[in-house]
Amino acid sequence: MQLAEAGLDTIIEKWERFFYDYCKEEIDNAALRFPEKRSLLLDYWVIDTHDAEMAEYMLEKPFVALYAAEAALRKMDMPVDPAPKLHFRVRNLPEGQKIGIRDLRSQHLGTFIAVDGLVKKVTEVRPKLEDAAFQCLKCGAVIRVQQNGTVLQEPLECYEDQGGCGRRTPFTLLTEDSRFIDSQKIEIQENPEELRGGAQPLRLTIYLEDDLVGNIVPGDRVTVNGILHGQERRRGNIKLTEFNKVMDANTIEQKEQAFEEVQISDEEEQKIRELSQDPLIYHKIKESIAPTIYGLDTEKDALALQLFGGVAKQMPDGTRIRGDMHILLVGDPGTAKSQLLRYMSLIAPRSVYTSGKSSSAAGLTASAVRSDEFGEGRWTLEAGALVLADLGVACVDELDKMDSKDRAALHQAMEQQEISVAKAGINATLKSRCSLLGAANPKFGRFDEFASIAEQINMPPALLSRFDLIFPVTDRPERARDTNLATHILEVHVAGEKMEHDHHQGLATLDELEQKVRPAIEPEFFRKYIAYAKRTVFPVLTDEAVEKLKSYYVNVRAAARESVPFTPRQLEAFVRIAEASARIRLSEEVTEADAQRAIDIVDYYLEKVGVDRETGDLDIDIITTGISHSQKDKMKILTGIIKDLSDREDFASMRDIKTRALEEGLTEKTVEDMMAKMIRQGIIYEPKRGRYKLTSE
Ligand code: ADP
Ligand code: MG
Repeated sequence: MQLAEAGLDTIIEKWERFFYDYCKEEIDNAALRFPEKRSLLLDYWVIDTHDAEMAEYMLEKPFVALYAAEAALRKMDMPVDPAPKLHFRVRNLPEGQKIGIRDLRSQHLGTFIAVDGLVKKVTEVRPKLEDAAFQCLKCGAVIRVQQNGTVLQEPLECYEDQGGCGRRTPFTLLTEDSRFIDSQKIEIQENPEELRGGAQPLRLTIYLEDDLVGNIVPGDRVTVNGILHGQERRRGNIKLTEFNKVMDANTIEQKEQAFEEVQISDEEEQKIRELSQDPLIYHKIKESIAPTIYGLDTEKDALALQLFGGVAKQMPDGTRIRGDMHILLVGDPGTAKSQLLRYMSLIAPRSVYTSGKSSSAAGLTASAVRSDEFGEGRWTLEAGALVLADLGVACVDELDKMDSKDRAALHQAMEQQEISVAKAGINATLKSRCSLLGAANPKFGRFDEFASIAEQINMPPALLSRFDLIFPVTDRPERARDTNLATHILEVHVAGEKMEHDHHQGLATLDELEQKVRPAIEPEFFRKYIAYAKRTVFPVLTDEAVEKLKSYYVNVRAAARESVPFTPRQLEAFVRIAEASARIRLSEEVTEADAQRAIDIVDYYLEKVGVDRETGDLDIDIITTGISHSQKDKMKILTGIIKDLSDREDFASMRDIKTRALEEGLTEKTVEDMMAKMIRQGIIYEPKRGRYKLTSE
């Protein structure tokens, strides 16, 4: 039988037979559980196995086929009365129906297709009028009009066939007698890993109805099965011939497993396993991160570890410990920070690259706004970079330029790795299980090694303390290093020129120089390696590793004179880094050597940013509060003096403060520096020039 030429009744009948033969039990179950369950949900292959002709017809003519299937369901005997109206939903469409958002064309309009994407926005759920009841204001008859579209359809007259008076009269809508259905609009965008070379992701609008609504949040990875159609566009009152593409969802499949989208063949798995046994694996991986960038060795080691990450732990008491490492690069302009971030976003699976000052409304975390443009007046929840990078790396350039709303939400996003939004019709918790790689520029242009990080970048210390590692990247003239760097950069350019030259001459030679700027591991394979490691390797600390970390932690703290060199937070950072180190070689065990690697890296970082320049002691307070222990002591002396003086004279003058401070053993320079710092931190203020008071009084 040719279904394409069959009448609607024939198709309905065919479905009815199919349902009685193969799905009666499921239909009865759904009917009994109505309204919690409101659909008959089938896998495509179930239909294909029993009725290949219908299955194929459904892909080509889904409007008719799905309509007929629901009509068939209405005709069936149901175990409950009145018979519930079930939807007919189909999932797991054949691979051939999967179309990339970028490849959607007019030929796909009206067909049943599957589209993969990352959910960017969702609107609040709103009731949508489906079956409207109008009352005639002349005769009182109730007239029903089926709604199918975004514009309200009113009766043209008081229809006689519905018992009306036949006149053209005004009507009033009876909401209590009308039937509404829940509706929601979402927007998905191309998955980042499908984008080549930093292209902007394309988006697709999708309409959901009834039991599909409310289950999806921004950041979800989904496959939407549905019908693509054109939506009319207008310019003012003029209707245009170019239509927008929108999709009506029939089913939505959520991706459950991490990195499902990264396909790894058996052969590739074999190659990954082999590479993991290479004694030079750490070196090769480091060499594969931005080979065109000279130096920054330890930084690249840290970035390699960040790509693999530690193990996230779900504890029996309901708490979760993050495994992702957060890294911040702070430094002079032109030191390849942005370049490194871009490179990382190319190799990290599921990564997102953005700038803190980007104009996107959703920013870094999430936003809930009442949107006319997308939401048609509804509240819309939109995912920011840290949600879109869930399970990957969020590379955020110019992190110091982020807006204040993000600043507040970033703590939760970094530590709990989720973002809660509660506003108007929207109440959601979005996942942000990603590593953050941030770059920031110093407030005063150049990085000052003798001042603390907290003072130099526009970020609150509490936020800084959420980073596992912070690296200052400085650019000071230094003959030997400058020579090497210049040689390297020039070589990179020569290699690039040669490759262009060869390319235009149709040659394909690779000399030594060209080989040098080539990553040791090709980016595509590198990504698979990382995805494989994160998906399959969950290393456990050995006793030796535990012992190593414990004694290091206890000994360094015990050796400190007065300052606190690090806190339990750094101990957790050690663990994450050691786990990542084991993961790099696909080891299920975190060994003593992994623990040592973690210690070396954290040491390197603390030596650079956590040392009190006056005493030479490690002091974590410099990072977490911006004030070292020795400074705090001096501050105490100064605040004591200021309080004392202002008790007597209502304020303290600089001259008197200095005189007293010198007696207490402080130098004039220290007094000036500390006073400036205390003003910046809001501890004291200057009501009149040269006169000071404590803020807390
Ligand atoms: P930043 O973001 O730190 O201000 P960029 O990433 O924009 O700096 O780098 C500026 C330019 O200088 C880039 O083209 C980069 O490749 C080059 N550059 C800076 N440092 C290095 C380096 N160590 N090795 C190679 N190139 C470098
Ligand atoms: Mg930059």
